[in-house]
Amino acid sequence: MIGKPRPAGLNLIGTLAVMGGVLGLTFGMVITLLAAIFSLIGLDLFGFSGSVLTLGVFIGIGVMVLGAFWTGVGFGVLKGRRSAWNTAITTTILSILFAAAVTALGFYLAAIALVPALILLFYFTRGNVRTFFLTGAGPYVASPMLAPRTSPNIESLLETVETARTRKCQNCGGMVAAEVTMCPYCGAPA
Ligand SMILES: [Zn+2]
Repeated sequence: MIGKPRPAGLNLIGTLAVMGGVLGLTFGMVITLLAAIFSLIGLDLFGFSGSVLTLGVFIGIGVMVLGAFWTGVGFGVLKGRRSAWNTAITTTILSILFAAAVTALGFYLAAIALVPALILLFYFTRGNVRTFFLTGAGPYVASPMLAPRTSPNIESLLETVETARTRKCQNCGGMVAAEVTMCPYCGAPA
């Protein structure tokens, strides 16, 4: 089997990143649409002012963009792409900055996003995780689900070809390997 030992939790992190990313995309879209609609029709449903709604549109777009990023990071991590590490670090830092900014604007719930973001930053900066992504050029697959199919049929076929490189001894009829010069059965020069 090709590949290097993968760091623990990589499949989990990748899967969670994809899920979180898709969730962010959806959630961001909903925030953007609701804020835009409420802003346009001047609805004061939750007592939000117009400026808060305008801000909501930008926050929604931000969440959407980060969601798209995280989806990409997740798939990259699952596939063990070398670029996944840089993208993951960049996206994590962007997420932290974004969550901090949104929290500072008064949306304190956004601070919750800092927790998974900091955990991810911690995870990706671990030596073995970093080394895993940044060293070695060999193809590697973190998830067996995404593994390219290295057909066992081809391997067994090659083996068959290898064993087929035999011929019959002229003297005793025994199967002799193609490269030997003397028959191992009867000793006749083959
Ligand atoms: Zn022989």
